Amino acid sequence: MPVRHGTVNSNSSPEALNPMELLNYSYDHLIGFMARQYGKRAYHGDALFRHLYSRGQLDLKNDPLFDGNPELVSSLERDFPLNLPLIRTRQKEGDTLKFTLNLDPEINCETVLIPMKKYSTLCLSSQMGCRWNCQFCETGKLGLHRNLSTSEIMAQLMTARFALNADKLRNLVFMGMGEPLENLDALMESIDIMTDPRGLNLHAKHISISTAGYIPGINRLRDLCREYPHRNYQKLHLGLSLHSADPETRSSLMPINRVYPLDELKKSLLSSPYSQVKDGLYIEYIVLPGVTDKPEQIDKLLYFLEGLTAKINLIPYNPGSNPIFRKPEEEEVDRLWEILNEKGYSCRTRKSRGESVMAACGQLGRRSKPDGKSGQQLTV
Ligand code: SAH
Repeated sequence: MPVRHGTVNSNSSPEALNPMELLNYSYDHLIGFMARQYGKRAYHGDALFRHLYSRGQLDLKNDPLFDGNPELVSSLERDFPLNLPLIRTRQKEGDTLKFTLNLDPEINCETVLIPMKKYSTLCLSSQMGCRWNCQFCETGKLGLHRNLSTSEIMAQLMTARFALNADKLRNLVFMGMGEPLENLDALMESIDIMTDPRGLNLHAKHISISTAGYIPGINRLRDLCREYPHRNYQKLHLGLSLHSADPETRSSLMPINRVYPLDELKKSLLSSPYSQVKDGLYIEYIVLPGVTDKPEQIDKLLYFLEGLTAKINLIPYNPGSNPIFRKPEEEEVDRLWEILNEKGYSCRTRKSRGESVMAACGQLGRRSKPDGKSGQQLTV
């Protein structure tokens, strides 16, 4: 991928610098950055990358990798003091923790840490708000304010790992705020950093990216898998928030369907490596009683799935602050599960966690100020 971040003039004042600048760079880009910025060879970029992702802070004076380089240590600490953003709010339900970082005065960037017995899952945001205005989704009501930068995506993970001491962190899901495939450059750079064996060493096979059906992003991701086979992008999981395979119903629930309709979406998925392997593609299907569980809707879902290797994740509707549907009863979810299972589909029901603190699926999206402005939104 091309380098996308400008260099910083070493004479500029530290106030002008992004305190998280270093978190914008994958391993290769950090090496290039160190060469441009300080005329250093790969050794120093390598040492800095290992330092950052093993400690979560800049403490170069005490790092033997930097022995003998006091000048570089003071330049780096002066120019790029790594400050993770403050945690603005924390809310817990059981072990599930929703936190917001101090990244933007107008809007909260929400992240959810879900500890499980053997490992933890982190649900990451990729944008401030979202443009696509899915009718059941809280984030959609905010509109899109802006993309998150690589460093802002990394800050969520670094905060969980180092400030909240989530040491069993294994699964990462881009299912927080925003449409990750619309912010693909920053997303993939952050995935390069997260999966680098010289750093956090998380595995692509434990990372899921969920999309509302943003076809240009699905296609670009497919092309990146081909272009960079050694980066293991093909081992990631792609989630498609399908929710209905009936064009009319889907367009009314998810206005993105008017821009990227189902038949085009199916073609795009068929050309994607994720629909060709066992665990690659997950179809997310919201259970809206009396709407998405009707027999004709199920038939259309089964028709859509033909030719795709995919698993189904049923998501019971979580009523947000302003419910537009009824929450399904457990039996209603189970009934749909049984039908799909009988048809031979591997099907899982996503357990709802963090509902009482609005940390469950689709419930992220509180303004930091109640009268905050709305972002860009696709009108229904
Ligand atoms: N924009 C991406 C990433 C968001 S992931 C996408 O649409 O896939 C959040 C998941 O929760 C999506 O599957 C979304 O459709 C689902 N969701 C949103 N609101 C919900 C709600 N109220 N109840 C249950 N699931 C919801």
